Amino acid sequence: MAAEQFDKVADFLKLDDDLRERCKWPKRLITVSVPIERDDGSTEVFFGYRVQHHLTRGPVKGGLRYHPAVDLGEIAALAMWMNWKCALMDLPFGGGKGGISCDPRTMSDGELERLTRRFTMEMMPFIGPDVDVMAPDMGTNEQTMAWITDTYSVHMGHLVPGIVTGKPLNLQGSSGRTRATGQGVGFMASNALHELGVSVDGATAVVQGFGNVGSNAALTLNSYGVKICGVSDVNGAIWNAGGMDMKKLMAHYEATGTVVGFDGAEEMAPCGLLIQECDILAPCALDRVIDKSNAADLKCKVLAEGANGPTTPEADVILDDRGDVMVIPDVVCNAGGVTVSYFEWVQNMQRFLWSEREVITRLETMLQQTFGKIRAYANDHQVSNRMAAQAIAIRTVADAKKSRGLFP
Ligand code: NAD
Repeated sequence: MAAEQFDKVADFLKLDDDLRERCKWPKRLITVSVPIERDDGSTEVFFGYRVQHHLTRGPVKGGLRYHPAVDLGEIAALAMWMNWKCALMDLPFGGGKGGISCDPRTMSDGELERLTRRFTMEMMPFIGPDVDVMAPDMGTNEQTMAWITDTYSVHMGHLVPGIVTGKPLNLQGSSGRTRATGQGVGFMASNALHELGVSVDGATAVVQGFGNVGSNAALTLNSYGVKICGVSDVNGAIWNAGGMDMKKLMAHYEATGTVVGFDGAEEMAPCGLLIQECDILAPCALDRVIDKSNAADLKCKVLAEGANGPTTPEADVILDDRGDVMVIPDVVCNAGGVTVSYFEWVQNMQRFLWSEREVITRLETMLQQTFGKIRAYANDHQVSNRMAAQAIAIRTVADAKKSRGLFP
């Protein structure tokens, strides 16, 4: 799918065949076996992967995931997408992604620590703050990043905080990193409403997913005066046409671990949530939730893609034909996370910590500039925002490759 999407954009850009080939294929695909001792004394070998799509514009940046479905193909596709996201945001990074095929839910902390440290050792020749900088992804977290920092730093003989991002604050993580993605989604969605001439104060929003991205997107929108009328999580969906009290909803969520059962709203069928009338629809949970079965029924003015890949290519065609929904594609809408990861890396390299206000102000400026570029390109070339975003990104990488030339 990633390669097909690339070909479509390369056709649109009329990329030369040589540049097309150089942009499409990943630079390095690394597979390692990772043997660890299980708690029962047995030895088990896991398989770990890291794909470094390009190092043309800087070190590669991207998450490390622990999940049973991880394989080289999936990691290569995710690395390619990260490559375009970094280029679109004009971050001095290429795209990377890594993973270990394992089920972290069935492993003890000790086993996860041994797995992470051994994987880091196996990766030692291929990573570094100027080469490859990992971050948390599905199944990994701040603690995983702390173990990688420690393993790498012990090996080097001194603390190297720039080896990963998404670290705990006490190891020179960045303020604002945890909320950054959702905050970016809320910021982008409200800007889009503004562009459409719709008042943000008093506007309505529906948010699918109430994890890191969804809850922070909802809180950010609400802080601008947007009424959060519908939210959902894996357990179900709730609705209040007048808007929910977010303080009370957060308290309920923290106490119960779900939005369901909140007494300030009514339960509704989750399948109906996405097609409720609202100004902003923010899918912040799963991929492919807007498809050809429901795209024609959306009743939002702005579709803010917090999740990765929430809209299928068939749904995209329907939304393009309709022309009445402003789509903020995932590649920019949820780019707050990687952008603040970049800030974390910069702070680590400079040994200079920024305030949260500084982080958020810089983030908002970069998101706004990038979306402005996308809108201008889409208008000039009469293409969708998604095509515009991908075209800008691929052109950026192709131009950098062209400038560097082809080393013999
Ligand atoms: P998370 O695990 O914190 O939250 C996921 C949420 O989705 C949970 O509330 C879960 O209950 C809900 N959910 C699961 N199945 C659902 C269903 N069928 N219907 C409704 N809700 C459902 O994950 P997250 O970090 O918030 O990531 C969400 C999405 O955003 C993913 O697509 C991820 O790739 C993307 N993303 C995350 C970040 C980040 O910084 N966390 C950055 C970029 C993109």
